[in-house]
Amino acid sequence: MGFIPITINSYIKKHLKNNPGENEKDLRKRLNSALADYKKGIKCSCGNDIWVIGSASVGNSCFTCITGESYPIDDYEIESAINNRGNTKGRRHIDENPPSKIAGFFDDDGYEINSDLIKKPSLCITCINNDNPNEEIFCNMTRYDQKDDKEFKCFAYKARNP
Ligand SMILES: [Zn+2]
Repeated sequence: MGFIPITINSYIKKHLKNNPGENEKDLRKRLNSALADYKKGIKCSCGNDIWVIGSASVGNSCFTCITGESYPIDDYEIESAINNRGNTKGRRHIDENPPSKIAGFFDDDGYEINSDLIKKPSLCITCINNDNPNEEIFCNMTRYDQKDDKEFKCFAYKARNP
């Protein structure tokens, strides 16, 4: 059970062999657009992931809604739409964010850390970097690394001029 992974090119070849009347360019366009929708996270109206290959013919829907069968047995799916299935739910992952939009920072596993939850040590209040937005991410990293330590040490600390 489960989909048989196939590349777009191999699927098109197979499909054209079985459906000689189909227009290759048109089919490729519809497959690419369904795949793009899948990657955008567009779901079937029932909430399931869309089945890219079926959606290219009948519009964005999941396998069950298109075929009426509960799961695929020897049906194909574009391979890059299979590998994405089963993402970790909940926290935002760094890969889900375009690099230009990564504003926060992320732990070693790639999950976003909510910087509002990091306590600011009293040492920081007297530091020249305290209100510098360019330093904030480094400061937060230093704080996060030492969040379980009793004493806070910072090598970037510079006392404010009195
Ligand atoms: Zn559905």
